[in-house]
Amino acid sequence: MAEPLNGAPLIENGWFLEKNSQWPGQANALQVKEVLLHKKTKYQDLLVFASTNHGNVIVLDGVIQITERDEMSYQEMLAHLPMFSCDPKQGLIIGGGDGGVLREVVKHSCVEKVTWCEIDGDVVEAAKRFLPSVAKAVGDPKVELLVGDGVAFAENSKENCYDVIIVDSSDPVGPAEKLFSKAFYVNAERILKPGGVICSQGECLWLNEELISIMVQDYGACFACAEYASIQVPTYPSGQIGAFMARKSGGKGEISCRWPRREPQEMELRYYTSEMHAAAFALPAFLQRRLEAT
Ligand code: SAM
Repeated sequence: MAEPLNGAPLIENGWFLEKNSQWPGQANALQVKEVLLHKKTKYQDLLVFASTNHGNVIVLDGVIQITERDEMSYQEMLAHLPMFSCDPKQGLIIGGGDGGVLREVVKHSCVEKVTWCEIDGDVVEAAKRFLPSVAKAVGDPKVELLVGDGVAFAENSKENCYDVIIVDSSDPVGPAEKLFSKAFYVNAERILKPGGVICSQGECLWLNEELISIMVQDYGACFACAEYASIQVPTYPSGQIGAFMARKSGGKGEISCRWPRREPQEMELRYYTSEMHAAAFALPAFLQRRLEAT
């Protein structure tokens, strides 16, 4: 039995119900087979349950982070959109405690080192135990895991260090709030190498139009180019999430991240293709207009 979060039950009549003030009047529901873990970590409420049709599921502060059934769309796109948009040797992942983005990043043989800064070690441990196919790259010799705040890490890092930064964060409430601030992006730009690319969890176009336009137009102004790419994830609110992508000036080649620079050869992939890469940047008219408005 999962204890209530802020007085509201997380599971009612055998269903996990994702009610949240971030998406008023709507709620995704998954049928629960068994609660595997429920604890308060230092930073958040962590629930892991086995579902009837979506495999094991991780929930943080009442919000679905990953299900085994559809995780590949988000992990592959958030990782491979930036990885195929540059020539990455040094990578930084912020967040992504389930290890899914990391699993995708280490598929690129050109990568020499990945620094991974996740605030909550309990999420990593839970993923290793209950979602081992997602967390399978956690002990990879190219990876250095630092348990700490990604905002402070970026603030304290030297300039021109990373070819790619991937921010796989939860929503902009709780520990992830400052990952959606301009101050964070100023530092992210500073620690990227010239021509380097950042790709961040960029929220949902049906729910967060205002935040997306702030990210692309305001935070994006620190970069040579800033864009939004769309990803289908059936178990995220409204079935969609975005990748906010930006490139630091000074590199060689195409500035936009729309067209992959390499083909995914000999990689085992279930969602990402070069065609999906380019197509992800095609946006509905209302969002395109909003992002083009000055
Ligand atoms: N894409 C998922 C979503 O939107 O539902 C996010 C999945 S991933 C599990 C989010 C991770 O970000 C969590 O493991 C959380 O602990 C981590 N996180 C949140 N704030 C952070 C911060 N300030 N620094 C580093 N990691 C952070």
